[in-house]
Amino acid sequence: MSGTIIRNGRVIDPANKRDEVVDLTIVDGRIAQRSEVRGQRSEFEEIDAKGLIVAPGLIDMHVHLREPGFGHKETIESGARAAAAGGFTTVVCMPNTSPAADSPATIAWIKDRAAQTACANVLPTGAISKDLAGEELAPIGSLSQAGVVAITDDGHCVQNHELMRRAVEYARMVGLPVLDHCQDYNLVANGVVHEGYWSTLLGLRGWPAAGEEAIVMRNILLAELCDHQIHCQHVSAAGSVRLIREARARGIKISGEVCPHHIALADEAIQNFDTNYKMNPPLRSKADIDALLEGIADGTLSILCSDHAPHAEFEKEVEFDAAPFGILGLETELGLFLDLLVHKHRKIDIVRLIEMYTVEPAKLLKLEAGTLSIGAAADVTLIDPDLEWTIKIDKFQSASRNSPFDGWKLKGRAVRTIVGGKTVWAV
Ligand SMILES: [Zn+2]
Repeated sequence: MSGTIIRNGRVIDPANKRDEVVDLTIVDGRIAQRSEVRGQRSEFEEIDAKGLIVAPGLIDMHVHLREPGFGHKETIESGARAAAAGGFTTVVCMPNTSPAADSPATIAWIKDRAAQTACANVLPTGAISKDLAGEELAPIGSLSQAGVVAITDDGHCVQNHELMRRAVEYARMVGLPVLDHCQDYNLVANGVVHEGYWSTLLGLRGWPAAGEEAIVMRNILLAELCDHQIHCQHVSAAGSVRLIREARARGIKISGEVCPHHIALADEAIQNFDTNYKMNPPLRSKADIDALLEGIADGTLSILCSDHAPHAEFEKEVEFDAAPFGILGLETELGLFLDLLVHKHRKIDIVRLIEMYTVEPAKLLKLEAGTLSIGAAADVTLIDPDLEWTIKIDKFQSASRNSPFDGWKLKGRAVRTIVGGKTVWAV
């Protein structure tokens, strides 16, 4: 018997409506009753959690770990280390790898690689369409058998609504949720930044909010038609929030997630043409940020995630139009959301923040995770909600450095990450 006792922390376990200062016991990699502790107390590690929050291991359901194919940006090993350093015990990786994760063989490769090298749980998604080309369906039934937790063409978006309908119907048959990167290719064309004042002033091609809203609307119609869950990834526009809110009020199985950069930064940040402010969907207006905050506050947007998108320096150090979209997220997201949502804007409390990182993604993806129930895997995140710290990208665990948040001072962060009863990272 081996184990750990985490002493005197504030245990917040939204799945069990629990919020109390108490000891948490881990025995042989599982959450246990205190009475299960037998034998030599000296075999038990003790962790003093006074003043800390003891939360179920956080889940980030939207990350790019880049393997197979782009190991110069990130590997499953380095991405999992970045996850642990950010307080995440489980990450869900996107299929836009090379080859794309559109076959059981590639899913098996990812799972194998994760089992051998990752210090956190890595759950793969499968593609909706073959090679993410949006022309022919991927083998959704075989992907399900291979163990994907959802299907998505993230990075791309199926434009053919009939093909998307069939994908949603297949996904329903095999019980997989559908995640969608909402981008209408005709409306967005070659857009690189939010279409508005700053795109006009700087002469950069615009990516209109309607390019996202049109596909959010399509997804609402298909979720209703097929009576199946569609989840809109990285929602950025006020119109999308309004559409999702109205549809949810009608009982439609539609949901949405938010990334920290869409709250922390507005489109005015692109003035210096720094490619670390180039994302897809783009940074939007202050009115959009206000709408996202309201959507988080009233539950319309139920999940927080990073869209962690590592790129090598040589790829980002080019002119704005040519640079790839995306920034790192795993090591800054919890701090940014704690600082902005809980401390600064006071839109949600810390219990809801933890719920949006645990219960909500676990429910959507039907995961046995996100709880501190007796018998559950001992995935635990210790959070100091008031710790003041400064983001230093040269200290990141990620293999890449593309973040616009270097030097930001934040309040609140994870201080220890435990996966299966084992501490995999600590401040
Ligand atoms: Zn995306």
